[in-house]
Amino acid sequence: MSHRADGVRPVARGKVWLVGAGPGDPDLLTVRAHRLLSTARVVAFDELVSPGILAIAPPEAELVPVGRRAAGCRHHEARIHPVVVERALEGKDVVRLKGGDPFVFGRGGEEAEELAAVGVPFEVVPGISAALGAAASANIPLTHRECASSVTFVTAHAAGDHVGMASRIPPGGTLVFYMGLGRLEEICATVIAAGRNAETPAALVSRATLGDERIVSGTLADIAVRARAASVEGPAILLVGEVVARRVLSSIARVAAARAALG
Ligand code: SAH
Repeated sequence: MSHRADGVRPVARGKVWLVGAGPGDPDLLTVRAHRLLSTARVVAFDELVSPGILAIAPPEAELVPVGRRAAGCRHHEARIHPVVVERALEGKDVVRLKGGDPFVFGRGGEEAEELAAVGVPFEVVPGISAALGAAASANIPLTHRECASSVTFVTAHAAGDHVGMASRIPPGGTLVFYMGLGRLEEICATVIAAGRNAETPAALVSRATLGDERIVSGTLADIAVRARAASVEGPAILLVGEVVARRVLSSIARVAAARAALG
């Protein structure tokens, strides 16, 4: 390794790719994510990343689980897992795979800040966020010229803070709640308190785009009870708004048309 004029040894640094893995179905990876993953030497992944996606990495790649629930994980204060930085400082490129899109409730911004602070080069590869994957596979449009001209992504993380969450609920448009499965009652109560009608259609999509995807539909008034009765498992996302009825109406219309055809 050559020395600079000031005597400081340049450090060989790998690059960290903050890569969106999409909602789960490997077919929903971007071409760039697939290329990076299939040639990766080190893959650091969250628990949300599906096994079908990890299987794309070469067999000799080092797979590092770095989710906050990963066994023996003690890096709650750190914004990026120390192994990711270590490998980059060893000169290896790291594919840091994150569920959905790295910049939608994925702490990708915090990881990028920390990488910049320690001087590790990084690049972000967007992914299909869970809201988009769930809406597409449930056949629910997120916007619609007749009933929804905006869509708001909300984290349900602070669902206990009614006032704070209510202030994030706009008066109209589609609402999408991430991380809300364990707090459906609180979310729905808050949305109603923020002024939405209790009969507003709502749908919970669990494990969207994966083989065992499930969709439970109802209204703000009953979706929590329906989800519990159906024993829905996570990860799940809650869609709220008139657009949800567009899906229900279209399936009813199809059944009605089939009945009519039978005479
Ligand atoms: N960065 C991710 C979100 C991370 S927060 C993204 O852009 O999608 C984690 C939340 O995402 C989960 O609690 C759940 O609400 C949602 N989620 C992720 N994958 C999902 C899936 N396959 N089906 C339904 N919801 C999902």
